[in-house]
Amino acid sequence: MAQQMGNQPLIVLSEESQRTSGKDAQSMNITAGKAVSEAVRTTLGPKGMDKMLVDSSGNVVVTNDGVTLLTEMEIDHPAANMIVEVAETQEDEVGDGTTTAVVVAGELLKRAEELLEQDIHATTLAQGYRQAAERAREELDGFATDVDADDTEILQQIAATAMTGKGAENAKELLSELVVSAVRSVADEDGIDTENVSVEKVVGGSIDESELIEGVIVDKERVSENMPYFAEDANVAIVDGALEVKETEIDAEVSVTDPEQLQQFMDQEEAQLREMVDALVDVGADAVFVDGGIDDMAQHFLAQEGILAVRRVKDSDAKRIARATGAKAVSNVEEITEDDLGFAGSVAQKDIAGDQRIFIEDVEDAKAVTLILRGGTEHVIDEVDRAIEDSLGVVRTTIQDGKVVAGGGSPEVELSLELRDYADSVGGREQLAIEAFADALEIIPRTLAENAGLDPIDSLVELRSAHDGGQVAAGLDAYTGETVDMGEEGVYEPLRVKTQALESATEAAVMLLRIDDVIAAGELKGGSSDDDDDEDMPAGGPGGMGGGMGGMGGMGGGMGGMM
Ligand code: ADP
Ligand code: MG
Repeated sequence: MAQQMGNQPLIVLSEESQRTSGKDAQSMNITAGKAVSEAVRTTLGPKGMDKMLVDSSGNVVVTNDGVTLLTEMEIDHPAANMIVEVAETQEDEVGDGTTTAVVVAGELLKRAEELLEQDIHATTLAQGYRQAAERAREELDGFATDVDADDTEILQQIAATAMTGKGAENAKELLSELVVSAVRSVADEDGIDTENVSVEKVVGGSIDESELIEGVIVDKERVSENMPYFAEDANVAIVDGALEVKETEIDAEVSVTDPEQLQQFMDQEEAQLREMVDALVDVGADAVFVDGGIDDMAQHFLAQEGILAVRRVKDSDAKRIARATGAKAVSNVEEITEDDLGFAGSVAQKDIAGDQRIFIEDVEDAKAVTLILRGGTEHVIDEVDRAIEDSLGVVRTTIQDGKVVAGGGSPEVELSLELRDYADSVGGREQLAIEAFADALEIIPRTLAENAGLDPIDSLVELRSAHDGGQVAAGLDAYTGETVDMGEEGVYEPLRVKTQALESATEAAVMLLRIDDVIAAGELKGGSSDDDDDEDMPAGGPGGMGGGMGGMGGMGGGMGGMM
């Protein structure tokens, strides 16, 4: 068998598959990674710009948020996607620092490219990068400051830092107050789940009319106009079922032969509905939230009893109502007991910017709260909402970890300095990789300066000399261009924003660097190529990327000019 095969080349790949190997594969991946990072770089920091993304059906998103940008771009190059994942991990783990993570990843790749050209092996690079990241983490731990969960001032500063440069900035004082109270309210013995802070976006009014409701808002009206508008000191019931007569199991047709029989049939139904409502009346429910429908007759009875009822309540809303009021959902209303009831100081239907919604509030120790965000237009509120999500994430993280670092590029400059010292002590080829890592970190202060219209070199020189002089928290004031103590400015970020960003950026860069063979089943979106036809190699050149970020083409020609 083996001899026979020796006569012909052995083909193991299908004809459609595309293969790019060696240096070409490496540079294709590096180029893709760098392109992603370039795409978001201009949004970084307080003076970062926004981007407008238009999808193929014309929907528009205006955003400054790294992860939103990258997911909306529908990038489909495999290597580029690994960088997008960096942003996604960052979003899941901390909620902020997505642009930072991607920009650092891109810069690590760029610096690696230079070393690869000098024939430093990818494995050595990977090793050096890992060592540097590990060391950076220790250093960060060393200069992080402890924060007490009760320290409202610093928590609000952290909340505000996450909003800087975003649509929410105009009202950041009010909003950071709201964010901190919101996170504190939902904390319980299991930790903090910011899902319990729901955000209600209301178009109309201005951002600074936003408010925090200690409770839940349901985007529904009471089911019948004959019911009361509000219930004070309300016992709240949640029914995970319907207030309707159960359908008979078998699809039986009831043939009614005389009017008396019809009456009997209807009486029977009415009696069943009456029983359901009576069960609620007996336990003393004042407001009822029902998962399914409510029969007209049941509505009539409920209204007669002065009970406010809402039907087709979303599962997520029901969960929040339960959390806020302490009610337990019952699936069979006839089995409800007083124990299942929750309590709210007020359940009321209110008008908010011309829309009727049910407010369940005045709840003592509400473990579910609602932020009402207001703003002039839908796009404005959407972007404020994204900034609020970041802000909720950093406050949660800070309360969980109790450690923060100053921002404004200060940790990156400090780390860069420390890592250069460390590199000297390591020596060998790894030293070069560690130095490259140190250089790569400076992309953050450099970009902050560039985006603020400052000279990045001047800014860096000043920052370095401040750090040389022992000013660990010296960062860039993006408004004045001066080097200032970021702690004094109140620009703080959770330690985890930085450690997570470095960790995912390093992992992604290392992963891409170690790849020397890309085998794609079918056409690789990075451009079509034939392994032995060097002319239309997509790898490396920016031309390759044009096709590589195929998904970006879908955003419309307008994007090209913005990046
Ligand atoms: P990311 O998605 O990485 O959070 P941002 O656009 O939010 O990107 O920018 C974060 C960067 O901006 C951080 O380095 C942070 O320290 C810096 N920053 C935030 N507020 C200020 C400020 N007032 N002055 C200087 N730098 C700031
Ligand atoms: Mg941010």
